[in-house]
Amino acid sequence: MASNTKFIFVTGGVLSSLGKGLASAAIGTLLESRGLTVTIQKLDPYINVDPGTMNPFQHGEVYVLDDGTETDLDLGHYERFTHAKVGRNNNFTTGKIYYSVISKERRGDYLGGTVQVIPHITDEIKNSIKLVADGVDVVIVEIGGTIGDIESLPFLEAIRQFKADAGKDNVLYIHLTLVPYIATAGEVKTKPTQHSVKELRSIGIQPDILLCRTDQYLSKEIKSKIALFCDVSVDAVITAKDVECIYEVPLIFHKEGLDNKIVELLNIWTRAPVLEDWEQLVQSVKAPKHSVNIALVGKYVDLTDSYKSLNEALTHGGIANDARVNITFVDSETIDDKSCSQLLVDADGILIPGGFGARGVEGKICAAKYARENKVPFFGICLGMQIAVAEFARNVAEMPGAHSQEFDVDTPYPVIYLMVEWYDDKTGSIQRRDVSSDKGGTMRLGAYPCIIKKETSAFRAYGVAEISERHRHRYEFNNAYKAVLEEKGLVVSGTSPNGELVEMIEVRDHPWFLGCQFHPEFKSRPMDPHPLFREFIRAALEHAATRT
Ligand code: GLN
Repeated sequence: MASNTKFIFVTGGVLSSLGKGLASAAIGTLLESRGLTVTIQKLDPYINVDPGTMNPFQHGEVYVLDDGTETDLDLGHYERFTHAKVGRNNNFTTGKIYYSVISKERRGDYLGGTVQVIPHITDEIKNSIKLVADGVDVVIVEIGGTIGDIESLPFLEAIRQFKADAGKDNVLYIHLTLVPYIATAGEVKTKPTQHSVKELRSIGIQPDILLCRTDQYLSKEIKSKIALFCDVSVDAVITAKDVECIYEVPLIFHKEGLDNKIVELLNIWTRAPVLEDWEQLVQSVKAPKHSVNIALVGKYVDLTDSYKSLNEALTHGGIANDARVNITFVDSETIDDKSCSQLLVDADGILIPGGFGARGVEGKICAAKYARENKVPFFGICLGMQIAVAEFARNVAEMPGAHSQEFDVDTPYPVIYLMVEWYDDKTGSIQRRDVSSDKGGTMRLGAYPCIIKKETSAFRAYGVAEISERHRHRYEFNNAYKAVLEEKGLVVSGTSPNGELVEMIEVRDHPWFLGCQFHPEFKSRPMDPHPLFREFIRAALEHAATRT
């Protein structure tokens, strides 16, 4: 750890879902805009070692990093809002911390000592924080959960101790809280904030800055009241106003003086922030010239957090085309050949995202067929590509019952299958997987290179022949069917460098029909929209134009 590295700890109070992840990411944006280098780390209080095995219904999307780490969706915010290099050390859970401590205990590293929460667990937490500190000016650490939860106590104790270790000029505590407007009283209420800060102080942490989530700018009086009760200075009470567009958060924080206060309290000298590009970005999201309807055909339709990165990537695709992207979630379980045209009639583009499990798979096949036959732009991601291949095999290449082995082990045409052995470009070795391998341990995870074939939609989008994208799946395209499917008009437009793994497919004689085995949504940035999302939205706009 460089001796001049500064640490900002972000905690949350009152209730969850106040946007701590976004707030942490926006703090990163502001510090970068002043020329500082940052990284952001998330400490999650749950016992799972990583979120890889968690149900998206409960926990939202599993976000995947280049190095293959499966993380919390907040890491997606960090990557979209900053240039921070994030890897496995940017997300620790209680489970991961205990796993490491218990492994050390089994190895005898503690030399017979009694292993305890303090100091062993707290030391492990502090060391995990230090792991990301090399080479950056500021480390922002977001503590998951809400103050008052039993689970987060060891993390809070560790960050309390951290101040003594790193020096008081180097550590800052920011607390995100709620200041609700109560309509019957006609005023905003500060009591929940007072209680939350009291709770935080009872465990030894005095916040330096309060981010007050609210739907209106707080008056000077309210800020003074909060400052008085919570023992912070008035200019450290920041309105975290609700926003229409998440990319506005850094701008609101800046207007409220947050970055000024941070650099003042941490005693950092920086240049003035440059935020013109963010202002322009927000402008183009809020007032686009065009608009386009995209149908997202999936399983987790009730919980949009499950498709967080996808939503963002679609928005970015819209930004690149000066268009608002209206996303309609269509539950694939409600789709069949009859209902299909009715449910998808308004769609200018159809997207089938990644997924696991058989539920709704036949509905997705119907949607892919509809898009192919009606020449509606189609984008299939991971499972979406596998569905498109099965549909093409069944309905174009005359392979009735063609399927992925994930859903039908006895299919006569396993066009998508469990490849038991393949050459892994990342490790330069042969990898193996089989049905009985550990759940979670058998997936192709993280960044893999892909070679793109010229004169394809993929090549037109990327403009280069070699790319790298992130993966998270078990099943692969079955090369035994490659020749016959190609002969019928399927185009394999991207493969692994040795050609063994099919990474992208297209359909010939269609305006835009593309499936990819990877998850491009993880690499899209508001300032740098992903080429496939940009092109998908462009094709959808063209489709919309032909209909009016
Ligand atoms: N269930 C499919 C597989 O494991 C697709 C996974 C995904 O879409 N992420 O291969």
